[in-house]
Amino acid sequence: MFRQPKVEYKSNQQILTMRKAGLVLSAALDEAIGAAAVGVTTGELNAVFADVLKSAGATSNFLGYHGFPASICASVNHEVVHGIPGDYALQDGDILSIDGGAVVDGWHSDSARSVIVGQPRPEDQRLSDATESAMWHGIAALASGRNVGDVGNAIDDYVSGLEGAPLGILQDYVGHGIGTQMHQAPDVLNYRSGHRGPKIRPGLCLAIEPMLVLGSLETTLLDDDWTVVTTDGRRSCQWEHTVAVHDRGIWVLSAADGGAAKLEPLGVTPVPLS
Ligand code: MG
Ligand code: MG
Repeated sequence: MFRQPKVEYKSNQQILTMRKAGLVLSAALDEAIGAAAVGVTTGELNAVFADVLKSAGATSNFLGYHGFPASICASVNHEVVHGIPGDYALQDGDILSIDGGAVVDGWHSDSARSVIVGQPRPEDQRLSDATESAMWHGIAALASGRNVGDVGNAIDDYVSGLEGAPLGILQDYVGHGIGTQMHQAPDVLNYRSGHRGPKIRPGLCLAIEPMLVLGSLETTLLDDDWTVVTTDGRRSCQWEHTVAVHDRGIWVLSAADGGAAKLEPLGVTPVPLS
């Protein structure tokens, strides 16, 4: 019989260290997203991000990961994930997803945000807003759900319920457990699969990261062996947060406010540990 790999459940003290990694990461993403503008290169954004980690005494879990050459993934337009920052200068209307992580005292965080530089196309703004909202619905499901599969159910229900042109939920890439490593068990699917997954219980820490597309779900890996693009060339978007479940509630470790502003409208009040 198939058995799920063992989940690493964290103590409150360990979650507090992960919070430090989450706050450094949030500050680094603030700076990198804030610096994204027409004419700025993705390599420059990588440098901005790396500087924040360095001055906070944190390290990057992306740099050197299976040989990855940078501290962020910068994925533009039809690039879905794992875009390598470099000489590309952002153009008016580009949709950029920045995914990064930080390590403090051996504990990891992982978070992604998207931004449209210059004048957004309405369909791209809707894509980014829907992807972010899908992520928050998935996070809220951690507070009320019984099993990890409830996260994907909530994301799927939210996206399927949107009015207007349907958006696709990528299935090739999923969220994950996080703690002493960036990628741990369990997988966190972003869609309704019928698999319940492990029970949601205190100590569970997950990176929840839906990726939505305007077109087909099919993806292609580019020759650089990293960059994943949509095969049909339509645009894609990613949002991600690192979230902890503890004995008093949930806490979004990579959001400066712990997730309060976005979760309260969904009926969830995040509970910080101290
Ligand atoms: Mg990530
Ligand atoms: Mg991740």
